[in-house]
Amino acid sequence: MRIDLHAHSNASDGTDSPAELVRNAVAAGLDVVALTDHDTTGGYAEAIDALRGTSLTLVPGAELSCRVEGISMHLLAYLFDTEEPAFARERELVRTDRVRRAQAIVERCRALGAPIDWEQVRRIAGRGAVGRPHIASALVEAKVVASVDDAFTPEWLANGGRADVPKRETDPVEAIALVRGAGGVPVFAHPGASKRGRTVSDAVIAELAAAGLAALEVDHIDHDEPSRARLRTLASDLGLLVTGSSDYHGSRKTVRLGANTTDPAVYEALISQATGAKPVTG
Ligand code: AMP
Ligand code: FE
Ligand code: FE
Ligand code: ZN
Repeated sequence: MRIDLHAHSNASDGTDSPAELVRNAVAAGLDVVALTDHDTTGGYAEAIDALRGTSLTLVPGAELSCRVEGISMHLLAYLFDTEEPAFARERELVRTDRVRRAQAIVERCRALGAPIDWEQVRRIAGRGAVGRPHIASALVEAKVVASVDDAFTPEWLANGGRADVPKRETDPVEAIALVRGAGGVPVFAHPGASKRGRTVSDAVIAELAAAGLAALEVDHIDHDEPSRARLRTLASDLGLLVTGSSDYHGSRKTVRLGANTTDPAVYEALISQATGAKPVTG
């Protein structure tokens, strides 16, 4: 079984449509893929439709934007009830604030001399939840930077960079309660991704474990071997499961589907905790 529990479509900042993501997951030899767009479930219907005639299992999910002690962090949520009102409202508030914030970032970029505009970013983002990667693509189009990665520097869009503007982000203890309240399963995404900025302390991770966190995403492209080893020990100390996943974003990042995978026994343990929804097969 090849299980990849973290992938983005163009419902947020990936470049594959949800249907293309499903086709690419099949082509990559995956048995299970989770659709985890930032703060939205907007890709579900198309992805579920595309499962027909395949033997792929889809785990509907999302990746929530959180912040604790001034540090931005991501919480994966799987198999929650999309209709549960408290959690649905929080996702909507974050998505709405993404638009305000993206417009503010575009203004900063323009003030810094980058010839991009909001219409361009809106076109690049399409119907997707807008984020910095879309603005990064606009900066690439405008030949301000050579690649999306090159836009994530202190010069431009990196956390705390010249053009960065914070967005509404949920306290992770609250987010965990919202996910569990909607019958979902919360997993800390790339907790050791230090190239993005400061990472959350072990003490905070212990608090999140006590608040109902299910797992740490340990096997991730942004973690080197020592940081994986450290996170594995921490997970074991805190009684947390350990997942692995690609964090695929289509052509916006170089990582391939299935680059990291989750152990089948861990997958079973995670889905057995979910009461909000079930994995979907074609
Ligand atoms: P946002 O959700 O708008 O704050 O943008 C965050 C997204 O930008 C992440 O989900 C990644 O897809 C991307 N990202 C964050 N940091 C980096 C980085 N250092 N290099 C490339 N992409 C990044
Ligand atoms: Fe992303
Ligand atoms: Fe993330
Ligand atoms: Zn992600």
